[in-house]
Amino acid sequence: MAQKIQGTEDLFGGYMRAWQHMQDVARELFGAYGFDMIETPAIEQVDTFVHGIGESTDVVRKEMFRVVSGALMENLLAAGSERGLKAKQRMAMRPEGTAGVVRSVVENNLVPQGAAPAKLWYAEAMFRGERPQKGRLRQFHQVGVEWLGAPDPAADAECIIMLMEFYKRLGFDPARLRLSINSMGDAACRPAYRQMVRDFILAHADEMCEDCLERAEINPLRSFDCKNDHCREVMAAAPLAKDNLCDDCRTHYEQVKRYLDAAGVAYVEDPTLVRGLDYYTRTVFEVEALDAGVGAIGGGGRYDGLVELEGGKPTPGIGFAVGFERIALALAAQGGSLETPEEGCVYVACASPEQRGAVFEATLALRQAGIRSEADYQGRSLKSQFKQADKCHARLCVVLGEEELARGFATLRDMESHEQVQVPLPELAPQVASRIA
Ligand code: AMP
Repeated sequence: MAQKIQGTEDLFGGYMRAWQHMQDVARELFGAYGFDMIETPAIEQVDTFVHGIGESTDVVRKEMFRVVSGALMENLLAAGSERGLKAKQRMAMRPEGTAGVVRSVVENNLVPQGAAPAKLWYAEAMFRGERPQKGRLRQFHQVGVEWLGAPDPAADAECIIMLMEFYKRLGFDPARLRLSINSMGDAACRPAYRQMVRDFILAHADEMCEDCLERAEINPLRSFDCKNDHCREVMAAAPLAKDNLCDDCRTHYEQVKRYLDAAGVAYVEDPTLVRGLDYYTRTVFEVEALDAGVGAIGGGGRYDGLVELEGGKPTPGIGFAVGFERIALALAAQGGSLETPEEGCVYVACASPEQRGAVFEATLALRQAGIRSEADYQGRSLKSQFKQADKCHARLCVVLGEEELARGFATLRDMESHEQVQVPLPELAPQVASRIA
């Protein structure tokens, strides 16, 4: 029997409805903030991710699923390396949403000079070749937003405020969430800070793990969240970004915090918060559900240099992403649920097979009126049709029998009270609609 790939999931039933519910909440909330939906391709040129996310990140180096067509695979195997491939032949499944959206913004010139910012949101599957475990999948789903062209610290604050409101509307108790924020500096102050952290790691080389020694040269800030406890203990004494910000970055960060305070959004400052992707500048943030044990349930930050890295004109940007599967786990751990109840329907039953044609016409009329309706397709008895109606949560049953059909009527049966009324057939759909409204 064929089986799904480890670390992937089928979405159906209540779990599918939960994912749709998350998108519905996003559409309404993000819409109120002026965001429109975008969908970019699930496969992009490798370079889109390399330029955006950074060559040295784990996501690009180890976790990206590369895509090759069968024909290309034969060439690759014959050549023994991908060196002969053209850029457009090197493809990958998207591991995150920002790089593709920014590529699209540049390619479609969505933020022409002097135009209003582009405010976009997406709900998409992401793919990462990670070792599957609870809350860590190879195909998972994210809702995310990208706001391009807004340098104002109010945009950082509004993104964070909108994110926290999103959790609230999904059913989280805000008191059981922890929002951490930090500033990572920008092109003016980060290079010098990075150098300081590199020197710090090398000065403590005998206490750090192999990975951190490698990171010292390519991505030293990542050592702040090394999986090795001892490395993190050592890093507790390392220089902090917040003490090394340039004046512009410090002013920006202070203003973001003032806006958050004004909106009554609680946060903790975590000077060691460095998000995994290279493109972040200034404000970064992450949210954790307390006692849920599933890691971060969302995070994001400002990425003022990313549009240039993707080949566009300098354009500031900020955004976040929220993982659906972790939200479902975290809500469940806190005693909540993302699931919405199954939709009820109207069941159309017939007393005997002679009325099957009338059932066909009645369900057609109900469905054309937008009423979710079901019928029997297996030749069941009336009694088992009623059982079936209960199973599909029918509130009303339309019963078509020989005698009432001959008079041009149908019987409406309330499945809870078992009360029955007769309605003329031409009025069936409006009568049903008004009863289930
Ligand atoms: P990131 O793009 O790594 O900042 O992730 C943003 C959010 O996506 C995280 O906070 C998680 O909720 C979710 N996420 C990231 N990686 C995975 C994964 N491998 N499996 C499931 N959810 C993930």
